[in-house]
Amino acid sequence: MRKYANKLYDLLFSGSKNIVITTHRSPDGDAMGSSLAVYNLLVQLNHNVNVIVPNDYPKFLKWLPSDDKVIIYEENKNYSDDLVNNSDIIFLLDFGNIYRIQPFSDTIKISNAKKILIDHHEDPDDDIADIVFSYPTACATAEVVYEIIDAMNLNNYINKQIAECLYVGIMTDTGSFKYPSTTSRTHQIISKLIDAGAENSKIHDLIYDCLSSDRMKLLGYCLNNKLIVIEENNSAIISLDSNELKKFNFKKGDTEGIVNYALAIDNIFFAVFIVEKDGIIKLSLRSKGDFAVDKIAKKYFDGGGHNNAAGGISNTTLLKTIKKVELITNKYKNEIKKT
Ligand code: 5GP
Ligand code: MN
Repeated sequence: MRKYANKLYDLLFSGSKNIVITTHRSPDGDAMGSSLAVYNLLVQLNHNVNVIVPNDYPKFLKWLPSDDKVIIYEENKNYSDDLVNNSDIIFLLDFGNIYRIQPFSDTIKISNAKKILIDHHEDPDDDIADIVFSYPTACATAEVVYEIIDAMNLNNYINKQIAECLYVGIMTDTGSFKYPSTTSRTHQIISKLIDAGAENSKIHDLIYDCLSSDRMKLLGYCLNNKLIVIEENNSAIISLDSNELKKFNFKKGDTEGIVNYALAIDNIFFAVFIVEKDGIIKLSLRSKGDFAVDKIAKKYFDGGGHNNAAGGISNTTLLKTIKKVELITNKYKNEIKKT
């Protein structure tokens, strides 16, 4: 960390630069939190900074400090491409595989800017960046961002804005500090962020207690009508098709976290949420214990992620995808149970 942090320090203190920060498609709390934390640091160092995300993100993240500065690539393609073409440095945050920033990947790939990857996913692409901070055991990219700021001795720059962004990244990627990736170091960092001004209780309310009644009814519908419990394989599946989303006036972010209810059932160690959205079948996989869902996501669903939380896509129909997941729970029942 120290060697690369020194390199980054030299780069950031060698005059004002044009900098682009980007993160993965369908940005989540860690993606937005770590991107806006880096933004709020770099503007203090007098750089010209732009945050460009591939597509839109949920409303519950739209209060983050400097959220008003975020550019959505899909809605501003030419402008974003120009910014990238004129950039000296590009930060790639919270992803390790270039396809995860589609349709932005090509512009970034061909850019000659110095690229800095900061991430906590397994197996980043070779040659994705010039300076790589890849820490798969870190609970969140926001945690890695904190460690880099710490290693560069720039802690004095951690103001309330940065502290709140990093807090959101760590809180959302650890399921509010409960996943096994949460360490005593994570809590130390959180304590420093609160000392720097992060209003922890307010942040929990803003992220979790702002659900629409449609979202609550959708959750009730999922649990009452759509939950498949495969007791013999210690697994559970919830699925939604696009008509069902329409019925509940689906808004971005409304299906976030639903998979965790399936995983909260006693003796369920593997839970899958499958949703058909804009003609694409997206899966969210979760596990308790050792069962590595990122391996399943990679092998069967062109995806990846972490040991206990991963995602991917399916190229067949929703019904066939459900069947495929059922077969997977059968095939891996011993591994799922062992956990
Ligand atoms: P979620 O289920 O919340 O969309 O994603 C869970 C975790 O898996 C997150 O860490 C996310 O970054 C990762 N993930 C989700 N979808 C994909 C995917 O298509 N490819 C890869 N490599 N990781 C994914
Ligand atoms: Mn993350």
